[in-house]
Amino acid sequence: MPLVRAYIALGSNLGDRIGQMQSALKALAADNQLKVLQISPLYENRAIGMGEADDFLNAMAEVETSMAPLALLDFCLKVESKLGRVRTKEWAPRTIDLDIIAYGDEVIEHERLQVPHPRIAERDFVVHPLCAIAPNVEIRGQRVAHMAAALPMDSLTLCELKLELV
Ligand code: ATP
Ligand code: CA
Ligand code: CA
Repeated sequence: MPLVRAYIALGSNLGDRIGQMQSALKALAADNQLKVLQISPLYENRAIGMGEADDFLNAMAEVETSMAPLALLDFCLKVESKLGRVRTKEWAPRTIDLDIIAYGDEVIEHERLQVPHPRIAERDFVVHPLCAIAPNVEIRGQRVAHMAAALPMDSLTLCELKLELV
């Protein structure tokens, strides 16, 4: 399999958020079919629509992988389960959420996988971390920097704590 550059969004709003994000990054990096090239700063985001839930921490990883798209999805879901993610209702608080934001230039419309992730442009917590590491990448013909410029950072704050590239 050729190596493909992909972007994986990490989010957590339950428990030891930064610890879980660091563990997720470590688990991604530990696979020999995947290399983590860059990790964005951490951003804190209000958990809109989640009632009393803790605020989200979000970050973006740039990876290089020889996994096929669905294999990468299954791997992300496996890392989520390993870190205690239980899927209850939609929008429920989660220990860790790993979303495939982009996989090379591929457009995938599969029942289990949509890539590029369909809700990128409306999500400041995805666009801004992505812009921090890949401003010139194009998603559906639009530069990430352009998407970020169109999306205010109202509910996002940059954290001083950082994830370590392992
Ligand atoms: P959202 O995708 O709107 O951020 P979510 O992350 O809360 O919602 P989950 O409950 O984590 O949603 O995932 C539900 C399903 O979404 C997964 O089991 C997976 O099959 C599917 N899915 C579709 N496209 C993607 C993608 N690009 N990355 C990750 N999961 C995806
Ligand atoms: Ca998500
Ligand atoms: Ca998800």
